[in-house]
Amino acid sequence: MSVYKLNNVIQTYSWGSIRSLHEMFNIENPDHMPQAEMWMGAHPLGCSRISEQGISLTDLLTKNSTTMLGSYTAMRYGELPYLLKVIAADSPLSIQVHPNKQQAETGFQRENELSIPINANHRNYKDANHKPELVYALTFFSALNGFRPIDEIIHLFEEANIDTLRPFLQMLINHPNETSLRSFFKEIMTLTNHEKQNALSEIKRAIETPPKSRLAREAWQTTKIVMTHYQNDMGLFAPLLLNIVELAPGEAMFLHAQTPHAYLSGTALEIMANSDNVLRAGLTTKHIDIKELINNLSVKPTQASRLIMSPIEKPFRLTYPIPVDDFCFDIVLSTTEQQVFYIRSAEVLFCIEGQILIEAEQHSLRLEKGESAFVTCDCHSYYISGVGKLARAYN
Ligand SMILES: [Zn+2]
Repeated sequence: MSVYKLNNVIQTYSWGSIRSLHEMFNIENPDHMPQAEMWMGAHPLGCSRISEQGISLTDLLTKNSTTMLGSYTAMRYGELPYLLKVIAADSPLSIQVHPNKQQAETGFQRENELSIPINANHRNYKDANHKPELVYALTFFSALNGFRPIDEIIHLFEEANIDTLRPFLQMLINHPNETSLRSFFKEIMTLTNHEKQNALSEIKRAIETPPKSRLAREAWQTTKIVMTHYQNDMGLFAPLLLNIVELAPGEAMFLHAQTPHAYLSGTALEIMANSDNVLRAGLTTKHIDIKELINNLSVKPTQASRLIMSPIEKPFRLTYPIPVDDFCFDIVLSTTEQQVFYIRSAEVLFCIEGQILIEAEQHSLRLEKGESAFVTCDCHSYYISGVGKLARAYN
C-alpha cells in the first residue's frame, strides 16, 4: 500500500499549445513542442511511470492488481478504468462522436473479423469500450457540444441564406423534429464536389456580412476562428448546428456517448473511460467515416445553458454527478487543516494549485502544482493538508 508520484507522458499533437503546460504547471518544453495532452493513467498508448522506481504504472498494477485496484475494479475491468488528462488546445480539435458501449463492442468485433489492423488509418474501433468524457476548465475553454435547439438551427441557416442547402432547410422547417435534423446534418456532411464547394463559398460569404442577431454574431465569430485552421471542411457549418459553449475556469461539462462535439481552444482537465474510440465528422486530416458516425449519432437538441454541470458541494470538495460508472471526479479544496479521504478504488490525484501534502500509512508525498500521484486501493484512506486545489479521479 502506497502513494506514488507519477511521471506522465506528454502527447505532442499538432493542435497543442507550446506554452500553456509550461506556464501553468512548470512542465518543461525545451524543444518548443505543441504539448497537447498530458496523460495520467495506464493507457497502452501513453502509460505513466512511477517516479521513484522508474517502472510503468501498468507493470506496477500487473504485479498485484487485486490489492492495488481493489477486488471489484480488478474483477470488473481488469485495468485502471479511467484516464485523467490535462489538455491544452491552441487550435480546434476534430468534430467527433464516441460510440456507446454496445456499438463499440459490435464495431470492434466487426472490424476484427474484417482483419483491419488496429493501427490502420481507416480503423474506427480501437477497443470495445465506450468513451464518455468530462471536461473541467482550467482557463476559459471553448467547445462545441451537442445539437442546438432546432429553432436556433433554422434561425442561423435562414440568416446565413445558403442557397445550396435551401431544399434541405425547407424540409427541416416543415418537419422540425429529430428525424429531419438527422437528415439535414447528413445532407450537409455528405455534400460532394460542386455542391460542397458552393456551400462552402456561401458560408464564407455569409460570415463576412454583419450579423443581425446575437446568435449569428457568436456563430459567425466561431466559424471565422475555425476557418483560420480549416478552409475546405464542412466543419465550417458546425457552429450553426452545434451549441457553442464557453466554460469559465472551474466550470465543467459532460460529453455523452454519441453526442457530436469539438474542443476549440483553452486548457482543461479531462477524464474519460479508458478508450480510444473516435468517429470524426470534420476539422481533421484524419480518417472520416460519415456513414459510421451517423449510425452512432444521437440527435437530441439541448439548450447550451443546460450543458454546464452543477457539482454537489460536500465539505472541502465538489463532486460531479457522472452518469457512467467508469470514473468519478472531485475537486478538493485543501486547507492547512488536515482532511481524511476514505477510498474504495485506486485514485489518481493532480495538484491544480498550491502545494499539497498527501499521507497514507507510513508514506507521505508533497505535490506541487502540475504534479500527480497514484494512491493504491489498499491504503483504504489518506490524509491531505496544505493550501491548494486538487483534482481527484477514482471509480
Ligand atoms: Zn471527445
